[in-house]
Amino acid sequence: MQIPLVDLKAQYDSIKDEIDQIIHNVIKDSAFIGGKYLKSFENNFANYIGIKHCIGVGSGTDALFVALKTLDIKDSDEVITVANTFIATSEAISMTGARVRFVDCDKDTYNIDVNKIEKVVSKKTKAIIPVHIYGQPADMDRIMEIAKHYGLFVIEDVAQAHGAKYKNKSIGTLGDIGCFSFFPSKNLGAYGDAGAIVTSNNELAQKARMFANHGRIEKYNHEFEGINSRLDGLQAAVLDVKLKYLEKWIERRRAIAKMYNEELRNIVVIPYVMPETRHVYHLYVIRVRNREKIITYLQEKGISTGIHYPVPLPFLKAYRYLGHKPEDFPVSYSIKDEVLSLPIYPEMTDEQVSYVIKHLKDAVKRYS
Ligand SMILES: *Cc1c(COP(=O)(O)O)cnc(C)c1O
Repeated sequence: MQIPLVDLKAQYDSIKDEIDQIIHNVIKDSAFIGGKYLKSFENNFANYIGIKHCIGVGSGTDALFVALKTLDIKDSDEVITVANTFIATSEAISMTGARVRFVDCDKDTYNIDVNKIEKVVSKKTKAIIPVHIYGQPADMDRIMEIAKHYGLFVIEDVAQAHGAKYKNKSIGTLGDIGCFSFFPSKNLGAYGDAGAIVTSNNELAQKARMFANHGRIEKYNHEFEGINSRLDGLQAAVLDVKLKYLEKWIERRRAIAKMYNEELRNIVVIPYVMPETRHVYHLYVIRVRNREKIITYLQEKGISTGIHYPVPLPFLKAYRYLGHKPEDFPVSYSIKDEVLSLPIYPEMTDEQVSYVIKHLKDAVKRYS
C-alpha cells in the first residue's frame, strides 16, 4: 500500500466536476484579477471565520508581510515570534526591516511558550506573531494579555489552522490581523500560491487592501506605494468551491487523529491538545526515538512521513547572524530530532490509517 503524506489528487477527484466547471467559468468571464469570484470567496471566508473583512493576497507569506506593513512595522522595530515555525513567519518580519526576536516553544503544544515572551520584550517591540502550529491554537488569552500590557499588536499566523477554535472563537479573529495561507497542501488549499488577511478593523482592512494593490483604491489613484500581491480569480474560485467542504474535511482529520491517538498513546508521544481548543490537525506530529530508522522502515512499507521542522529557525544558516546557541531554545532544540509527522488528509481511508498504525507499532517495537 502506498500512503503519501497528503493526497491532493484524491481530493481533486472527489470534487472534480465542480472544480472543472468553475475554472471554465472564470476563464469564460475573464475574471482573472479582482471580480466576482474573488469577492464571493472573500465574503464566504469572512463569514466562515466569523469576521468582518477578508482580503485575498498572493500567498501566506505575503499576508504576513502586508499585515506587518499595515501596522507600520519598520526597521527600528522588533517583532516577536516562535522558533518552531516555517521560515515565512520570520521572513515577513525581516522583509519590513524589523528585527526578529525568537521565543522557544512549549514542550507539550510546540506553540510559543507564553512564559518566555516577556523576557524578549524591549522598548523596540511592536508586535507578536503567534503561530497556531500544526493546527492547534496558541495560548491566545495569555498572549493578548501580554500584548495589552506592553501595547503590542498581535498578528496571528493561521497558515496551518483554518477553522481551529480557541474557547469557541475562530482562530484568526483574536488578534489585530489574522494571516492565512492557501498553499495547495494546507487544510484549505488553492491550485497554486494564495493567501488572505482577516480583520475586524475597518481602517486596517482598507489599508491592507490598498497596500496589496499598489497603494490604491481605484485605478491610478495611488495614495502610497504598496506591492502587487492579489489573490487571483482562478484561485479564489477554486477556494470558494473547496470552502464548502472544509468543515467536513476538518472533521475527518479529527477522526483520523482520534484513531491514531487511541492506538499510539502508549507507544509514542502523541499530540497534546489544550483544553477548550479545536485542533484541526493540519499535521499529526508525534515524537519518537531513533527517528531515522523508523522513517526508513515506514518508507519500505510505502508510508511517507514528514519532519516539521528538522532545524528550528534560530539554528538555520539564515539566522546565524543572531548568534543563538542551543541553550537559548532548549525545547525547540530537544524536539527537533524526535518530531515525526504521520500521513493525515481527509481522503485517507480507515484501512490506510490502520496500515500506518500497524507498521508504526512494528517500527517502534524494533527501534525505539
Ligand atoms: C505555509 C506557511 C506559511 C506561508 O504560506 P505560503 O502561502 O506558503 O507563503 C506561513 N506560516 C506558516 C506557519 C506556514 O505553515
